[in-house]
Amino acid sequence: MSAARSSLWGVRIDLHTHSAVSDGTDAPAELVAAAGRAGLEVVALTDHDTWDGWDEAQRAGERLGVEVWPGLELSAHELFAGEQRAVHVLGYGVDPSDRELGGLLERVRQGRRQRIPKMVAGLNRLGLELTVEEVMALAGTGVVGRPHLADAMIARGYVAHREEAFDRWLRDDGPLVVHRLTPSTEQAVAAIRAAGGAAVLAHPWGRGAARWLTPNRIEQLARDHGLAGLEADHLNHDVAQRAALRRLAERLGLLVTGSSDYHGTGKRNFPLGAHTTAPEVYAELRCRAGSHRRTVGRAAGVYGGPGRPRGTGPDDDTRLMTQGETDESDRDRRRG
Ligand code: AMP
Ligand code: ZN
Ligand code: FE
Ligand code: FE
Repeated sequence: MSAARSSLWGVRIDLHTHSAVSDGTDAPAELVAAAGRAGLEVVALTDHDTWDGWDEAQRAGERLGVEVWPGLELSAHELFAGEQRAVHVLGYGVDPSDRELGGLLERVRQGRRQRIPKMVAGLNRLGLELTVEEVMALAGTGVVGRPHLADAMIARGYVAHREEAFDRWLRDDGPLVVHRLTPSTEQAVAAIRAAGGAAVLAHPWGRGAARWLTPNRIEQLARDHGLAGLEADHLNHDVAQRAALRRLAERLGLLVTGSSDYHGTGKRNFPLGAHTTAPEVYAELRCRAGSHRRTVGRAAGVYGGPGRPRGTGPDDDTRLMTQGETDESDRDRRRG
């Protein structure tokens, strides 16, 4: 850390973690306790497409003296060579009473639930016996995802751990691609900002994503859509990628964050605090969250304010997301 003599020197901050409310394995309170044991002063809970873990995490944080910053990791997509490719956008400090973002999250979660029977059918066709009920039971009341499919495969003895399930069947470019409903990256950034949050691209170049999140595209997201930062320090980036993302961030005036992407025992070798975020960056992110709420969306009538009715303008997320659904059924047919 270069600004080493700031008053917050030495404070350890991890801004990307998952609890069992999505596809991690620790309950939110357990995660916060584990963060304390790992020597973190600040942890952001960023479950996929939900804020349902916030209350429990914040109560635990108050009890244990760990600062919990509420966040989420919003699923989004880029179109690359005519195909939908996954992008994750971290949103910090959003207002959980924001009805537009709440509605978007609900639709994305519904898309996740609707994908499971299709993926189970695909696995059945590939000769793996598995039921939707087994998968949903493992997700419990939380947000279901491919990791729960992996857990069902582990329970059946097909694979030893989640990575093996992803490597053999579930990965994005694997034999079983089933798309789900997600906003475009700029819609995700806009929804986070309109709800008073700051948006950071999660692991922007992890797992081959540099092909669609090019420097030009990131520049556009920063300049035209108000992206606040890049998560450069992530275990899915090699040293050269981290350095290149830092240079890009510097050129574009973006903040650089670092984190663990902890998933409990669900993701081996991603321990809490594996990477951390500089205190100055955390302070600046907190500053940006909440500062632009009235200038985006509502006041301009974009998100259903008095300006114009929903569904009539370029920022309406439902309309653009329909494309994903069409792609999905096309791909199902092609692959089936
Ligand atoms: P989904 O939320 O259904 O789109 O699944 C994506 C999630 O699966 C990610 O957020 C990771 O937690 C996990 N994941 C993705 N790729 C892998 C992989 N290769 N090995 C283990 N987990 C993965
Ligand atoms: Zn995850
Ligand atoms: Fe992610
Ligand atoms: Fe994550």
